[in-house]
Amino acid sequence: MENNKIHKVIVIGSGPAGLTAALYAARAELKPVLIAGQEPGGQLMRTSEVENFPGFPKGILGPELMGNMMKQVEHFGTKIMQENVESVDFSRHPFIVKTDKTEYYAKTVIISTGASANWLDLPNEQRLRGKGVSACATCDGFFFKGKDVVVIGGGDSAMEEATFLTKFANKVTVIHRREDFRASKIMLTKAKANPKIEFVTNSEVLDVLGKDSVEGIKIKNSKTGEETEIKSQGMFLAIGHTPNTKIFAAGGVEVDKKGYVAVKDNTRSNIEGVFIAGDVQDFRYRQAVTAAGMGCMAALDVEKYLAENE
Ligand code: NAP
Repeated sequence: MENNKIHKVIVIGSGPAGLTAALYAARAELKPVLIAGQEPGGQLMRTSEVENFPGFPKGILGPELMGNMMKQVEHFGTKIMQENVESVDFSRHPFIVKTDKTEYYAKTVIISTGASANWLDLPNEQRLRGKGVSACATCDGFFFKGKDVVVIGGGDSAMEEATFLTKFANKVTVIHRREDFRASKIMLTKAKANPKIEFVTNSEVLDVLGKDSVEGIKIKNSKTGEETEIKSQGMFLAIGHTPNTKIFAAGGVEVDKKGYVAVKDNTRSNIEGVFIAGDVQDFRYRQAVTAAGMGCMAALDVEKYLAENE
């Protein structure tokens, strides 16, 4: 137990949402504690150039951006703890947040643990991540000018990412495991009308190939069993995301059937005093800048809640 102190706000998660929430809370003199996890910084720690976060005329490396955000929140009075949250008890006041090292008491909590892209667990997938394998066309598409790429998936994200990638790539091949698509008709029709997009259906991806960067994709036709290779310099996964909400759902936070936290009034969860920011509630935009915006909103909502309830 951390000396029985009751914190005004604990922020869980250290991506752009959590760090922006902590920054606003710190500047409102709420003395936030931010529980960062063992690998602080979130998804941007695994990207290279970030060119779509405002304020950096030539772009910035993902880890550098997150490092700067961490320095900024510490400078303004946030205590960053490199601990993992294991469970929460939101059924009592003050709330209890239990980590792998200690227990914290808090009047309010901001959950900003993000969502993780789903991966296929192919033998060479993680080795070639950042070297042609990506789960974010918006982030990395720019680096595939004039190249051939594939997009895996058959949902709206796959159609959206394939269409987006045609701005840069020479050819985009959508590989889908079934004949029918989960994508909405309008997005599928748009992708099908794009002359740069080809479709390969009924195909399972067996591996991504390449020594130092992606050179091809090995697939198997599920109807004929035939195995073939598609030459490609990029592989974009668009097979869904999993929000990191298991422990909070176990603690009574309402989530939808895919695990995203159901919010009301922008950042409020079903539990009074528990606020939500970033990809953990957002399946649609999933951008660093939108997550940061929600972090700001959650901190302002916490400030108002504390003023009304203290
Ligand atoms: P999704 O709708 O769950 O689609 C995931 C796709 O990946 C499905 O086609 C699925 O195949 C495939 N898939 C899943 N696991 C796979 C595996 N292990 N191997 C191969 N393929 C696999 O996810 P999403 O496309 O990210 O969309 C999520 C939500 O966001 C949806 O509600 C969507 O409408 C929404 N969204 C909206 C927009 C927009 O309106 N602009 C844009 C993007 C997303 P099966 O079909 O065979 O299951």
